Amino acid sequence: MRRLRLALSKGRILAETGPLLARVGAAPREDPARSRRLILPTARRDLELVLVRAADVPTYVAHGAAELGVAGRDVLAEHGGAGLYQPVDLGIARCRMMVAVRRGFDYAAAVRQGARLRVATKYVQSAREHFSAKGVHVDLIRLYGSMELAPLLGLADAIVDLVSTGRTLAANDLVPVEEVMPVSARLVVNQAALKTRRAALQPLVEAFARAAATS
Ligand code: ADP
Ligand code: MG
Repeated sequence: MRRLRLALSKGRILAETGPLLARVGAAPREDPARSRRLILPTARRDLELVLVRAADVPTYVAHGAAELGVAGRDVLAEHGGAGLYQPVDLGIARCRMMVAVRRGFDYAAAVRQGARLRVATKYVQSAREHFSAKGVHVDLIRLYGSMELAPLLGLADAIVDLVSTGRTLAANDLVPVEEVMPVSARLVVNQAALKTRRAALQPLVEAFARAAATS
């Protein structure tokens, strides 16, 4: 049977998953930050890494093209999670999904008055659920990045974006006003594979859980 595959994205997720991979004996055999290869062998003969865009991780794993993946709760909320188990919160890549507005915009008053808010975001599903639970009417505007620009250019009244230090918001004259959800990265597993390849997958999932708990 072919090796197990773990899908993850370059950048923050890869950097913070690195120490966990080392702890489960699956350090990549080449430096993924420098290699141009998208499939990387690891120190474990039964596991290879596949490098994909962050938002694509749930898709690869749900279709079984990779048995495992590491994805942020933000990405999983947008995907919906069908076909995936999320057995381990790895506690890495922590940040918060927040509503933010331009400094001086009275968000509380706008919500109180029942005004229709224009909200720009890449997180359309999470934003829709958040505002619908609050009973706030919104027009959602889907963007793919640089959400901070939208309020400055008059495209939107508010954005929903990830915030860690808040420096990017502050640099663009924005303030966070409400949390949508706390975010961290989870280990995800293809549901069918967890049944058909349980003997190989279950110990690996447990190893990741232990590695995450002791970090
Ligand atoms: P991309 O720009 O392709 O979405 P990132 O590396 O910026 O890739 O983000 C990948 C994941 O890292 C996100 O889905 C989220 O879970 C997490 N993340 C994003 N921004 C932050 C942040 N500021 N602090 C901590 N984690 C973050
Ligand atoms: Mg980014």
